[in-house]
Amino acid sequence: MNIILIGPQASGKGTQAERLAARTGMKHFSTGEAFRAEVMSGSELGKRLKRCMDSGELVPDNVVNEVTRKAVEQNRERGLIFDGYPRTKEQAEFLDRITRVDAVVAIEVSDEVAVQRISSRYVCSKCGKGYNTVTLPPKQAGKCDEDGASLVQRDDDKPEAVRKRLADYHAKTAPLISFFEGKGARIIRIDGEQPIEEVFEDVTAALRV
Ligand code: AMP
Repeated sequence: MNIILIGPQASGKGTQAERLAARTGMKHFSTGEAFRAEVMSGSELGKRLKRCMDSGELVPDNVVNEVTRKAVEQNRERGLIFDGYPRTKEQAEFLDRITRVDAVVAIEVSDEVAVQRISSRYVCSKCGKGYNTVTLPPKQAGKCDEDGASLVQRDDDKPEAVRKRLADYHAKTAPLISFFEGKGARIIRIDGEQPIEEVFEDVTAALRV
């Protein structure tokens, strides 16, 4: 089974994908995480990616699709939970060519809530683990639970970049829900403004996992 989690920034896709992967044994595949790891590695590709990501721009489709092809090839048996991919029609068409999408889980939150959540969002400067000072605080303020490194705000979580990303979400990504509906995927709409635990209950009940 392959599942896409779709929703605006800070809708909780990453958190839900992580939990769903732990529950089902499926592979959690986040293009954003894959790119941040590449940036951390300091490679030439990483430097190009950083420029796109810091300004809130989308990474070019051919780059994103190549990374995705590898993940799909390596996880055909296990099944994938796509988090942050696809984001454009070209990416959706590419994914549809290389594999089957069984379900799309649309996590719905308003722009107001997304902006509010982003302003309280932090990541570990070392391992990249995500936190939210309101909904998912670290045990010790400002420090990662895993490795104790300091928590920082992502450059693409700064207000100008956030506006750009929300606009891209509405213009390019949200319409992909009907694209996959047309391809026979189950569409599951979830109220993402509920607490994390309730969102997860709704997601797992709908997927029967
Ligand atoms: P995320 O962590 O999913 O919000 O992704 C962080 C950044 O990585 C985005 O703002 C984009 O610059 C880039 N990115 C991640 N996934 C994609 C994608 N599917 N298509 C284009 N750019 C992406």
